[in-house]
Amino acid sequence: MSGIAGKVVAITGASSGIGAATATYLAGQGARLVLGARREDRLHAVVDEITAQGGSAVGAVIDVAHRDDLKRLTDTAVERFGRLDVLVSNAGTMAVSPFDELRQDDWDAMVSTHITGLLNGIGAALPVFRRQRSGQFVNVASTAAYVVKPPQSVYAATKTAVKVLTEGLRQESGPDLRVTLVSPGFTHTEGVGKGASPETATAMIRQRDEIAIPPAAIASAIGFAIEQPIGVDVSEVVVRPTVQA
Ligand code: NDP
Repeated sequence: MSGIAGKVVAITGASSGIGAATATYLAGQGARLVLGARREDRLHAVVDEITAQGGSAVGAVIDVAHRDDLKRLTDTAVERFGRLDVLVSNAGTMAVSPFDELRQDDWDAMVSTHITGLLNGIGAALPVFRRQRSGQFVNVASTAAYVVKPPQSVYAATKTAVKVLTEGLRQESGPDLRVTLVSPGFTHTEGVGKGASPETATAMIRQRDEIAIPPAAIASAIGFAIEQPIGVDVSEVVVRPTVQA
């Protein structure tokens, strides 16, 4: 199956930002969606908006840190739509801070959301993809996976892990599966600076408001990777503002 229309796509972190924009974009192209996140109200607002526009979407309240939740997300796709074509692992948190602040809960959250969450998605979707003999992983990293800038070390380390896991998965996947890494640069979402230490948050939000690209720019890059013909794997995409170093 190529193109986007009719594909069943599950997206984590779909209640806002890049995930919500990707859901809206793919729904507009005729994809059938299973959307996951923790905030039920925000998630259902996205589902309702897509449905009101004539699209097909269902929501599942999930925390990607929990293995069973990812299994529920992929099970929902199979039960509702009969298959799963793409899993977009997008859920993330940018709660960055200097090491000296010892915000260890935030470090844990970045590890459990970006690394454990990605692995939980692979664990849930891979058996489905193997059974179908087709499927695509789209994993959202960051330009922080390519360069570390203080105080983003933990964030950058977990996003580097996303990049490494994605490349390893691609090499193990064989000819039936596609594996795509999408790395956004500064993108205008509510997640920028959210949970970061106050000084860092202020600087991040200022930079976001000056240079960020819209989340739709990332959504269309994800769409480009999904719409390729059978046998074509867009394995790595970096999308950033022209003015971002
Ligand atoms: P948002 O904060 O708008 O989106 C983050 C999404 O992840 C939300 O839907 C949030 O929903 C969800 N989420 C967070 N933790 C969990 C969890 N444990 N389980 C399930 N869902 C979770 O920010 P963005 O759209 O900017 O971020 C999306 C991705 O893009 C992230 O991986 C981020 O690191 C990456 N990125 C963003 C950049 C930017 O400049 N905006 C730059 C580079 C990468 P909820 O709280 O409802 O669970």
